[in-house]
Amino acid sequence: MPTQTATQIAKLGGQEITYTLTRSRRRSIGLQISQHGLRISAPLHTPLSHIDSVLQQKAGWITKKLAQWQDKKSLALDWSLDATYPLLGDSWRIASKPTGEIAMARSSSQELPQPLTIELTSRQIQTFVLSWYQQQAITCFKQRIELYAPKLALPTPPFRLSQAKTRWGSCNSRGVISLNWRLIQLPLHLVDYVVAHELAHLIEMNHSKAFWGVVGRVCPEYRDILKELKKYG
Ligand SMILES: [Zn+2]
Repeated sequence: MPTQTATQIAKLGGQEITYTLTRSRRRSIGLQISQHGLRISAPLHTPLSHIDSVLQQKAGWITKKLAQWQDKKSLALDWSLDATYPLLGDSWRIASKPTGEIAMARSSSQELPQPLTIELTSRQIQTFVLSWYQQQAITCFKQRIELYAPKLALPTPPFRLSQAKTRWGSCNSRGVISLNWRLIQLPLHLVDYVVAHELAHLIEMNHSKAFWGVVGRVCPEYRDILKELKKYG
């Protein structure tokens, strides 16, 4: 008998949950939760009522895990003309100036979007949007560093944009701060926290209590911000 897949609905703790049920030659019921939602693997002839009772037993765990996935914020970008691009917590899109040149415009902008009069490949969109992000990042990060350095009695340090995959910012022994260009996609208070964190390393090159004390001087709510930043992976 082949594998059978169907979409089912379960009511867990007052919430309707849609899940994918795959029946195959297996002996036990398996549960998996990912960005694709809840997936259940079951033996071929398990009655739905039995599957439902397993779900009821694990209802707390399932609803918690699903909520965690929904809470994860994705920064993946799509290089198409109707895509939206986050900038400092706002949503932007590609538009056309009256002259026909392409430009970025706020999605919430009241002005009517001008239809694009030229065709763009996804490669061209990527080049355009990435260079826009980099310009925005340089302007914003420079301004935030100039704002926060004096608050910590520091001279304004040099900085560069990084392409790092796993970190928002770093600081080297020569006092150069690196900030990930992707930070510009996040709300400003998260940018400010990363700037404050790296500036604090110019005073304390570690993550000691003293270091967090320095961070707290310019960013008192840093504990909440850390939690928020984690959602962006
Ligand atoms: Zn650090």
